[in-house]
Amino acid sequence: MSPDDYTPHSGDRRYRVEHYDLSIDYRLGTNRLDGVAIVRGRAVEATKAVSLDLAGLRATKVRGDVGGRIGFTQTDRKLKVAFGRELAAGDPFELTISYGGAPRPRRTRWGTLGWEELEDGAIVASQPIGAPSWFPCNDHPSDKATYRLSITTDPGYAVAAAEPVSSATKGGRTTWVFERSTPTPSYLATVQIGKYVSRGMDLAGVVGQVLHPAPLAARVQADLAPLPRMMAVFTESFGPYPLPSYRLVVTADDLEIPLEAQGMGVFGANHIDGKGSLERLIAHELAHQWFGNSVGVARWRDIWLNEGFACYAEWIWSERSGGHSAHAKALGHWAALATEPQDLVLSDPGPELMFDDRVYKRGALALHALRLTVGDDAFFRILRTWTERFAGATATTEDFRTLAASIAGRRLEAFFDAWLDQTALPALPEAAGALAAVEPAPVTEALSVNPRAVSEA
Ligand SMILES: [Zn+2]
Repeated sequence: MSPDDYTPHSGDRRYRVEHYDLSIDYRLGTNRLDGVAIVRGRAVEATKAVSLDLAGLRATKVRGDVGGRIGFTQTDRKLKVAFGRELAAGDPFELTISYGGAPRPRRTRWGTLGWEELEDGAIVASQPIGAPSWFPCNDHPSDKATYRLSITTDPGYAVAAAEPVSSATKGGRTTWVFERSTPTPSYLATVQIGKYVSRGMDLAGVVGQVLHPAPLAARVQADLAPLPRMMAVFTESFGPYPLPSYRLVVTADDLEIPLEAQGMGVFGANHIDGKGSLERLIAHELAHQWFGNSVGVARWRDIWLNEGFACYAEWIWSERSGGHSAHAKALGHWAALATEPQDLVLSDPGPELMFDDRVYKRGALALHALRLTVGDDAFFRILRTWTERFAGATATTEDFRTLAASIAGRRLEAFFDAWLDQTALPALPEAAGALAAVEPAPVTEALSVNPRAVSEA
């Protein structure tokens, strides 16, 4: 029943969700979450039942609008709902699910994922299967939906989740309402709660906002100074920014890795040191708004379409901001990657290796090799057409191959087979002109096959 063999226990192919309306009350002191989720979906095949992913929280009541009696049972990761009658393919339904408990991150082969308490707040980091830790969902990247979120919590905290609609304090509790009209998979839905101050930023015409603990103001100001220019460079390179706004949240806690959510990048205090040490990761998370969030993967095996592209965006930013050229970065990373085991297929790395650093770096190298092969003009037209054609939707590696060949006006089968479907690392194409004299840039970040130690999610 799962749509994806990388996450065989997640998702249900019998239906799709169109909209989640989540009303959540969260008490920080006791880590208690009480929620009501209204899930509007549509059957994609005839069915009398659907299952939603929900982990660590207990459903107490399920109501529906399809007629007949609604029954439900719950296992440690599934909420199974039986309808009173059979739905036909295409039939809409609406479920209202009351649920609650003490949310905690799921322990998975990719580390702990989902809703997590901070020292003084909460964070959601779900990729790939953490979303069921805070709401019942069809947890698969191909199922994109719109959202309304109403988050009620203790006063004195700031909440970031999606596009803000309102906030009001009543009876000693503050309710924040958000909307997300851009189609969003469950893993990119998020809630961030903390004692944050917020500051607006003009990001080359895009509405920006930064939320951070007040004591980090100077570090945040210094490290985010390049962000408006970054936005301008990426808009020029990849096409218009695909969302109404971009938010950055900097937590008071240190975090293992920064992460992307829809319209948002989340960084730990350790990532924002005031010296710009991790500028490449600020670029990386911003680039995910085009690659991964707007154009999403339909299945996890295509993860290089998110991570290889975001990694290549780091190199484009380096090139455009006075650092090493993308070519110098590629030469350096090619040499480093050549010393690593070559046992990974980029188009299907397997669930264990899907966040392996080699997926990121080889993915970026494949794009650079494509750029050398088809030239800058065709290469950037491919990227901009990609983000335009699949905006708000999902795409596969085959879609990218077809699009690239069509825009380049040439056959690229052998090229893509070597880079995407074979394990051996292909040589980079011969560079011509001034590029031929470029020296490899030193690789400063450690390369490792340990996925969580060095990769940014
Ligand atoms: Zn990433």
